[in-house]
Amino acid sequence: MGHECDGCTFVASREAIYVDPEVVRNTTVKPSFVGFFTLPGWTGHLSFYVFKCPDCEMVSLDYPHGYTDFGLLYLKCNVCNRVLPLEVPQNEEIYRKEEMPLPLPTLRERKREIKKITPKDGPIVIAIGETSWPKRLRSFLSL
Ligand SMILES: [Zn+2]
Ligand SMILES: [Zn+2]
Repeated sequence: MGHECDGCTFVASREAIYVDPEVVRNTTVKPSFVGFFTLPGWTGHLSFYVFKCPDCEMVSLDYPHGYTDFGLLYLKCNVCNRVLPLEVPQNEEIYRKEEMPLPLPTLRERKREIKKITPKDGPIVIAIGETSWPKRLRSFLSL
């Protein structure tokens, strides 16, 4: 039995997610929210965004992944696999929708913040606290 809720749409595959052609025409590098979707076998739903890849200029559809650049969520181009870090403050809305804490705006600040919580000689591990990790993403990943 798959996931069911009032807030999302079930689709057979990622390719089956409908995006209005008008929306596709107006897509820029700034991601715009398409909706919450669930796929076969998923135990939760994820939010999908359309965006234009700054490298290959194709329009892609993806959900936010964690993490890159010391704490940023990112989207990935479906065509060339380019990673698009979700910088703040430009993408604050996405972090809010994902119920994620806002990362610090610069790489330098984020690195410093992470150093504070990691042992001096140990590897850099980004620990995700129970409260900061959205339930649906966690249940999705534990499949
Ligand atoms: Zn749902
Ligand atoms: Zn691309």
